[in-house]
Amino acid sequence: MPAERTDPKLYIDGQWIGGNGRDTIPVIDPATGEAIGDLPVATAADLDRALQSAASAWPTWSATPAVERGRLLRRAAENFRSRRESIARMLTQEEGKPLSEALVEVDGAAGHIEWMAEEGRRGYGRVVAGPAGIRQTVLKRPFGVAAAFAPWNFPATTPARKLSASLAAGCCCILKAPEETPLTAMEMVRSFVEAGVPRGVINLVWGVPADISTHLIASPVVRKVSFTGSTAVGRQLAALAAAAVKPITMELGGHAPVLVFDDVDVEQVVRLCIASKYRNAGQVCVSPTRFYVHERIYDRFVSAFAQAVSGLKLGNGLDDGTQMGPLANTRRLAAVENTVADLRYAGARLVVGGERLDRAGNFFSPTVFADVPPTARAMREEPFGPIALLLPFRDEEAVIEQANALPYGLAAYAFTRDAGRQLRLSEKLDTGMLGLNTFFINGPETPWGGVKESGYGSEGATEGLEAYQTTRLVVQTSQ
Ligand code: NAD
Repeated sequence: MPAERTDPKLYIDGQWIGGNGRDTIPVIDPATGEAIGDLPVATAADLDRALQSAASAWPTWSATPAVERGRLLRRAAENFRSRRESIARMLTQEEGKPLSEALVEVDGAAGHIEWMAEEGRRGYGRVVAGPAGIRQTVLKRPFGVAAAFAPWNFPATTPARKLSASLAAGCCCILKAPEETPLTAMEMVRSFVEAGVPRGVINLVWGVPADISTHLIASPVVRKVSFTGSTAVGRQLAALAAAAVKPITMELGGHAPVLVFDDVDVEQVVRLCIASKYRNAGQVCVSPTRFYVHERIYDRFVSAFAQAVSGLKLGNGLDDGTQMGPLANTRRLAAVENTVADLRYAGARLVVGGERLDRAGNFFSPTVFADVPPTARAMREEPFGPIALLLPFRDEEAVIEQANALPYGLAAYAFTRDAGRQLRLSEKLDTGMLGLNTFFINGPETPWGGVKESGYGSEGATEGLEAYQTTRLVVQTSQ
């Protein structure tokens, strides 16, 4: 049966815009390699129109009471959730993850929007004591127009975070959604439009990423930038933002260490590790990557891990029972093949997987390497794929040092029942987010962000709202 096609549309100045002679980019189903739509590439004139439209909408939107903005956001979340099945299918078709994961993501994205709908009402400032007869007030103000750049691995979550926080704070948002997975972002924007968000408050564009970011960040209309993606691209965008002296929130790559101590239930921890490692085929910035396992339980851990991974069902995410789908695009497939070749060359022990599947689509088997030497490239560079790296350790101090050794610092995890050790780890692991006996670190009410080359600033939580607010001091006397 031929694939169902949907041609994504740009949304600029309150209008949906199709190809109409613009260049197009095919949207590919990674499970079949078939095109499922054609994406219109935004021209410079389209971007200028989006900028103009956002600039015109901002004075009214920023003056709209936060309660009213929240009401519209809540309605957008309801709209998005009410189409959860069809949107999740679309998400799976364009990104590859199993339908069960796509459904969780769609529900979670609606949850992020709902949470920000409420939090927008708490844009508190403060009154600061001053000399007699002088009142000093600190006001929280929206920055203005934000340009937000979202990647393909969470087609619903990332746009939800950026749109909801910017709009709740009173900013307008020009969203550059991912070219690889535009359909989910389009459905999200439709949910906001149908909720009644006024023309110009949201504009949706895509096309040639570097052209769009250069154009938008340089424009004086844009006062705030938010980017999620690789450290390499983040560096370029940070330079553009610095040249124009604009604040930027950066959610970049990670290389999460997992420290497994010898006082845990090995089989239970292995189950948690596998569910987290192979979620979205490992294409997750907080994916557990380096598993440091205490030498007393290492052999047992490796064999339980290998056995569980061999049983994972790989397939089209739309098929019942699929536990891991294809990689999201052919770039990832080539990168993962390269990483595996280098691991073999470095002398790591291949325990399971390691191969591309001989079928249509970007399928790569869930893979486990043990006894990984520090010289392997994957020990420094983000594998961003279904590859687990296992290695033994003996000493707590030394393993903390190894965990902290990379320039990344997004997420880290540790499994131990020892409360004293948990305390030491939360003090010493150099990371933006730490899961102790859990991989669940992602809720709308908690901040999401990294340190070192994993970026700066947070999304989600109060911090995520504040990222779109600037501070104005008003000093007032009675005459
Ligand atoms: P990439 O950095 O080329 O692209 C990531 C995203 O950034 C894409 O959606 C792309 O459209 C966008 N992008 C690329 N160049 C841009 C530019 N000049 N201006 C604005 N946006 C731009 O990487 P990729 O090949 O798509 O993915 C591989 C790497 O990306 C991974 O190794 C991982 O580090 C990183 N990544 C991270 C996240 C995350 O959640 N932090 C998400 C996706 C990808």
